[in-house]
Amino acid sequence: MNVSVVIPLYNEEENVLELHKSLKSVLDALALEYEILFVDDGSTDDTLLKLQDIQSDDNHVVIIVLRRNFGQTAAFAAGFEHAHGDIIITMDGDLQNDPRDIPKLLERTKHHDLVSGWRKQRKDPFFSRRLPSFIANWLISKVTGIKLHDYGCSLKAYRREVIKNLNLYGEMHRFIPAVASWYGITIDEVETAHHPRRKGASKYSLTRTLRVILDLITVKFLQSFSTKPLQFFGPFGIGSGFLGFLISLYLTIEKLFYGKDIGGRPLLLLGILLIIVGVQFIGMGLLGEMVVRVYHETQKKPIYVIKKIIDSK
Ligand code: UDP
Ligand code: MG
Repeated sequence: MNVSVVIPLYNEEENVLELHKSLKSVLDALALEYEILFVDDGSTDDTLLKLQDIQSDDNHVVIIVLRRNFGQTAAFAAGFEHAHGDIIITMDGDLQNDPRDIPKLLERTKHHDLVSGWRKQRKDPFFSRRLPSFIANWLISKVTGIKLHDYGCSLKAYRREVIKNLNLYGEMHRFIPAVASWYGITIDEVETAHHPRRKGASKYSLTRTLRVILDLITVKFLQSFSTKPLQFFGPFGIGSGFLGFLISLYLTIEKLFYGKDIGGRPLLLLGILLIIVGVQFIGMGLLGEMVVRVYHETQKKPIYVIKKIIDSK
């Protein structure tokens, strides 16, 4: 099996037939072994019926049906789990991505582990889509240090090894490049076409931007500090505790040597608060260390990834 195409579908009954048709013409022309994995993410319309129709005369098609609507990231994860290709391609099921870009992406996977589409001429509404995603893209590249123009583009190609080690949830699929970069993979970006959605409705609203930002915080945290929580929380704890200590010391001197009344002073409250917060942070760091330790001892998962082993035997 050479190529697997993974497509999440949620109520796309009006799009699947045309999608399959254009995808098939592109893939057949490439003359390689392929499979198309349609993941029905709990559609309540006739998406599944349409898929079964398609499958009845195309044995390249695999249908994965999720029990309910789990979201696009989960649908991708389910597809990845069952994909057999050496190269795995993802795209949206609403015809906004163009299958005709696939050969271009495939070509680049000869030199890169992950090739991401860039919807340079994006055909989506400005205020609800392009503006929030402009801000999100800027934030993601600042925080993760991976420089891509368009994290939200579903059209991507991965070498198999890239996705097989990932643990996806939330809105994480857009962070695959960032997460996978930890494994030392190379990333490339190519301009791809983008079309307005002609049929069916978009499944997302502005609240997605919020969820994306929360997931970004998680990714950053896992990426940089998950193996050393005390080093992350510790400095805040020490800083806060030390400041609290100085304030309390100052107040104590005022009380003991100058006989001033400190009981009603806001500064006293602040000093105590800072000390408590400091202790909390250190506690969180230590707790984190314990979790990390237990995790590594029970999971026995290595915290490194081997490129290859040369055995001269
Ligand atoms: N999708 C999905 N599960 C969801 C939401 C969306 O599988 O809960 C699919 C949807 O059918 C489409 C793709 O994810 O194939 C992108 O969704 P959409 O076009 O609504 O997002 P937009 O392009 O508006 O950002
Ligand atoms: Mg869309």
